[in-house]
Amino acid sequence: MKKPRDIGKEGATFWAGGAFAEKVSHEDLEEKMKTFHKKHDEDMNFNCKNCDKPISVHNKDWHAGMCDKCFNKEFFPNNQKQKVQR
Ligand SMILES: [Zn+2]
Repeated sequence: MKKPRDIGKEGATFWAGGAFAEKVSHEDLEEKMKTFHKKHDEDMNFNCKNCDKPISVHNKDWHAGMCDKCFNKEFFPNNQKQKVQR
């Protein structure tokens, strides 16, 4: 049996961004759960809407169509700052 360790960690980060989660309707959510289990580097058929970097279908659905870097900047600016200051 596969342990959903990656998914748990990713999910925790994702749901911590409550504002973004609220934008996802229930029907969308069911559809998106299909890609939730995909890896970040799986199906790199999309581009970040900010920097045009190739992103996975997972990022398209779960990171607001942005690469990890832009997504974190957008939704977790405080985390970024803390890292820089340290
Ligand atoms: Zn980007």
